[in-house]
Amino acid sequence: MVVLRWLGAAGVELSYEGSVVLLDPYLSRVSKLALLAGRSLKPDMARLQGYLREIETPVESIVVSHTHFDHALDVPPLARLTEARVIGSSSLGTLMRAAGNQDQLTVCLGGETLPLPSGGSVTMLKSRHGLVALGRVPYPGEIDRHTPLPWAAGDYREGCVFAPLVELGGIRILHLGSANFEEEALRGLHCHALLLCVPGWQRVPRFVARLFEMVTAELVIPFHYDDFTAPLDIDRTAPKLPFQGIPKLVAEIRRHAPATRVMLPRPFEVVRL
Ligand SMILES: [Zn+2]
Repeated sequence: MVVLRWLGAAGVELSYEGSVVLLDPYLSRVSKLALLAGRSLKPDMARLQGYLREIETPVESIVVSHTHFDHALDVPPLARLTEARVIGSSSLGTLMRAAGNQDQLTVCLGGETLPLPSGGSVTMLKSRHGLVALGRVPYPGEIDRHTPLPWAAGDYREGCVFAPLVELGGIRILHLGSANFEEEALRGLHCHALLLCVPGWQRVPRFVARLFEMVTAELVIPFHYDDFTAPLDIDRTAPKLPFQGIPKLVAEIRRHAPATRVMLPRPFEVVRL
C-alpha cells in the first residue's frame, strides 16, 4: 500500500515500505509581502526540520516537476537534510549547483524511467506549464542565474516541465503539478491516482475533456489550489486561491471520466492507495 499526503501547493508525500518519495515539496510558503517586495527567498528551515522530524521516515527521493519557486525552493535544503536523491531538470541542476549539492541530482530531459531505491520507478513524462498569470506561463525559460543563493522569485524560471509518473508496488501515481500536458506523453496511460493542478485549468482549451481522452484514473485529486503565500491553519486546512472554479472542475471530471472518484483532501490528510 502507498500512503499519499498532499503537503500544500504541488507538494506530495508518498510513503511506501518504510521510505518516502517527495514530489515538489514546498513547505516554506513564502509570504505575499516578501514576494511583492521582490525579496530574495529563503527556505523556512525550522519548518523543513519540523516536517522531517514528524515523518520519522527516510526520504529516499525528491522528484521535481519544474523549477518555479513554489516547486523547487525547498528542494536543495531538503536534499541536504535527507541525503535523498533528487530527480529533475537541468534548471534544477543550476539551482542545486548554486546550493552546493548538485551531486545528489539526476538530470532528465523527458521520457526517462529511473528506478527508485524502494524498488519502484519514476518516469519523467514530458509536460507543459499551465497558463496562469494573464493567460501566460509565469517566469518562462531556463534558470540562468549563477550567483549564490538566495534568489528572488523571478530567478526561479520554469525550466523543463515534467509530469512525473511514480510506480510503487504496482500503484501508479501521476503528478500534474501544472495545469497543462503533452497529449502524446499521456496517451493510453492508466493510473491509480492523478494529482491534478487546479490554477489555470480554465485557460487551457478543453483541458478536462482532452486529458481524459488520454488518461484513465481511478482517483483524481485536484490540488495546488491553496493560497501558498499563506500559512496553513492550525488544523492544516488550506486557504484557497480565489476564482479557481473547483465545483466546475469536479463536474467536468465527472462528465468526462464518470468512473473516476474525485477527492479533495485537506493538506496532510492520509490517502491510502
Ligand atoms: Zn509553475
